[in-house]
Amino acid sequence: MLEIRSLRKTYGGQGRQVEALGDITLTVDDGQFVCVVGPSGCGKTTLLRCVGGLLTPTSGEVEVGGKPVTGPPDGLAIVFQEYGRSLFPWLRVAENIELPLKSKGIPRASRQQIVAESLAAVDLADAGRAYPWQLSGGMQQRVAIARAIAFQPKVMLMDEPFAAVDAQTRADLEDLVRTVWKRFGMTMLFVTHDIDEAVYLGERVVVLSSSPTRVLESLDIDLPADRDQLKTRSDARFVELRTHVYAQIQQAKGAGPHSAITTAS
Ligand code: ADP
Ligand code: MG
Repeated sequence: MLEIRSLRKTYGGQGRQVEALGDITLTVDDGQFVCVVGPSGCGKTTLLRCVGGLLTPTSGEVEVGGKPVTGPPDGLAIVFQEYGRSLFPWLRVAENIELPLKSKGIPRASRQQIVAESLAAVDLADAGRAYPWQLSGGMQQRVAIARAIAFQPKVMLMDEPFAAVDAQTRADLEDLVRTVWKRFGMTMLFVTHDIDEAVYLGERVVVLSSSPTRVLESLDIDLPADRDQLKTRSDARFVELRTHVYAQIQQAKGAGPHSAITTAS
């Protein structure tokens, strides 16, 4: 469903060159939930923007559903980190969700049904008439997820979507994303700097080095599909996997030319 081959991205201009992506090769099967984890500034957002057709790679190829990406592909939705900036404050919640459906040419009656179903899927059935700024951060991010679901994407890209919410809300949203993924069966590429989050959510975790970024490892997460915030996170296998990923990143950090790693996004 997703094919990334020898992807490189160098930002240029005014004499300063930043090699954000060194050489990324990655395949994601139809319906798979893959988390990409890497230190802050290693190029995670750059990677998603290239996959989403929002940024042209310096070299290499990206294919979604077998088609080369030259612009935003059909059937692909992105949920960004800054929910505050991704929803239109002058539109009500329902209108925010409906907008991309309008441009897709879906008739009014089905639009309204899809909006209602999407809001229900994120437990916000009553929030349709509210404005985004009347909602908490976690609720706004649920609206952004509802908007992505409404689009019925085959592929969903998520860029550190929970970095700005509190820990309890974050746990709820993680479970929501797993539920939505199971129910709608889309292919999920979820980017985070949080190792525990990556291991908790993914069927596979792709570990990135710091820049110039490469894939350090692609690790199958052999935890039961039914994940639980308390049980899964205290599972011996979970601890083993997250410790392994942590060690990988630490090692890369020591070896790489840029050793700065922070926990901030
Ligand atoms: P991450 O999402 O992993 O934190 P980014 O993809 O945002 O990393 O950035 C990767 C690197 O590319 C960073 O060094 C960042 O400063 C640089 N970068 C990102 N966007 C631009 C841009 N538009 N112009 C120049 N450099 C950029
Ligand atoms: Mg980022």
